[in-house]
Amino acid sequence: MTEGCLFCRMVAGEIAPDVVYEDAEVLAFRDVNPKAPTHILVIPKAHVATLNDLTEEHAPLVGRLFLVAKRVAEERGFAGPGYRVVVNCNRQAGQSVFHLHLHVLAGRLMGWPPG
Ligand code: AMP
Repeated sequence: MTEGCLFCRMVAGEIAPDVVYEDAEVLAFRDVNPKAPTHILVIPKAHVATLNDLTEEHAPLVGRLFLVAKRVAEERGFAGPGYRVVVNCNRQAGQSVFHLHLHVLAGRLMGWPPG
């Protein structure tokens, strides 16, 4: 656990998010400020601050994160209609919580390019 990290505090059970999936390595929960009718965050339980901090050793974990993103979208019926998976890396991209997370967004038409 990294001191002062909001998502580490969720993993540790100090804050209770609205969990939709959990296993030994991954936690997924509803975004508190949703940007789409379905907005789920998929995080590794281990602290990784940003996409920049991923190394070769994280490759299986990154695979797990995407499989969970697929799973939560599929479970909600979005495999066919479609959904978007976003990772914001650092401030200019809009990252505000510095614990790696995948945004899974669904339930509305998505614009392109993203703003
Ligand atoms: P980002 O801006 O890419 O770092 O995304 C961080 C996301 O975390 C934002 O979409 C926030 O709405 C979300 N968020 C912040 N605090 C909480 C919380 N307590 N529970 C659930 N989601 C949160």
